[in-house]
Amino acid sequence: MERRKVTFKLYPNAREAERLTGWVRLHCELYNAALQERIEAYRKVGKSISYLDQQNVLPEIKAARPEFVELGSHALQQTLRRLDLAFQSFFRRVKAGQTPGFPRFKSAARFSGFTYPDPAGWKLLQHGTRGGTLRLGSGQAAMSIRVRGQHRFGAEARPNDLTITRRNGEWFASVTLRVPDAACARERTAHQQRGIDFGVTDWATFDDGSTIANPRWTRKELPQLATLQQERARKRKGSLRHRRLTRRIARLHERIANLRREFVHQETTRLATTCAVIATEELAPKNMSRSAKGTAEAPGRRVRQKAGLNREILSAAFGMAHQMLRYKAAEAGSRLHLANTRQLKPSQRCAKCWAIVPKTLAQRVHACPCCGHVAPRDQNSASVVLIDAHTPGTGVAARPKPLARQRAKSTSLTRETPATTMQVV
Ligand SMILES: [Zn+2]
Repeated sequence: MERRKVTFKLYPNAREAERLTGWVRLHCELYNAALQERIEAYRKVGKSISYLDQQNVLPEIKAARPEFVELGSHALQQTLRRLDLAFQSFFRRVKAGQTPGFPRFKSAARFSGFTYPDPAGWKLLQHGTRGGTLRLGSGQAAMSIRVRGQHRFGAEARPNDLTITRRNGEWFASVTLRVPDAACARERTAHQQRGIDFGVTDWATFDDGSTIANPRWTRKELPQLATLQQERARKRKGSLRHRRLTRRIARLHERIANLRREFVHQETTRLATTCAVIATEELAPKNMSRSAKGTAEAPGRRVRQKAGLNREILSAAFGMAHQMLRYKAAEAGSRLHLANTRQLKPSQRCAKCWAIVPKTLAQRVHACPCCGHVAPRDQNSASVVLIDAHTPGTGVAARPKPLARQRAKSTSLTRETPATTMQVV
């Protein structure tokens, strides 16, 4: 049994949307009231209130305020648990000597949503390609909200929990499914072995020199986002224009996030289902900053201001790619090898003779003075991580000498023939 989370966009009609908004407001009210209670009890009598204390009061609340009943008792408990978690992490951080912020009251407009912690009180019905329906509540008061999309796990997938969220005025349902292993599996159509170097100039470079170009949103939506943010910075805070721009920026952020997720999903699925071995560097925040100037290749105006934002958004995409490759490779029975960057130094190492060839960031070509091997820098890195994938263990420590195959290839081009080195440069 595996757990998989699937998110659907909801299409409530006006009445349903209003009801959902009302429910979020009630959950928020409960959250704030529970927080208030904890604060007062502590101030007045120095007593701390536990989650259980608060859970036991829920029936009284429902008796006095019948509008809470249709929210479902488990969903209400979950909101109290959410507050409890906020307190737990607050105290944990205090204990660790940090200075965390005290759990805060939340405004209904910014309260993100609510969760059904088990399959009770809701039902997701899928109608093939026609999308589906999400039933919330029970009996006559139940809501049937239209859902777009379909998950790929089939009828054996059992729902586990549901979270309803609201973002930029749109509603989403995230369902955790318990899926049998067989239903998770992906069919692999080819058995390539590929080394990949993720970067900003090209999104990915492979060991054979082929590349995947950066997606369209890096050229269109990212500059647009920077422009809007600069425009907003010139407006007075709280003014109508400022608010309007804030809304547009939020929507564009969301659009970029959607395009990015879509792109990474497509590419990682393709990799996982065509490669028996996928090798790349492990993810370290430090690796990302090196290509911050990716956009500088076609320098436009305000390149420097845009670079910071681009870097942040692009490196988030690398994290996403790694995460997706991890589970998709497992589903397709492919092997994902993450090379130890600090030990292996893929960008500095020669893929032919395994020598370290120091380069600055600006040097885009690997030209080895030892064996004469010449390759684009990113392609060389991709080859190095692929070779690393075929050795037991990770990195140089596991392999003091180059592979036999590599040594054999490089014999004709050793230090005795320095002339080749000169040709290269
Ligand atoms: Zn070399």
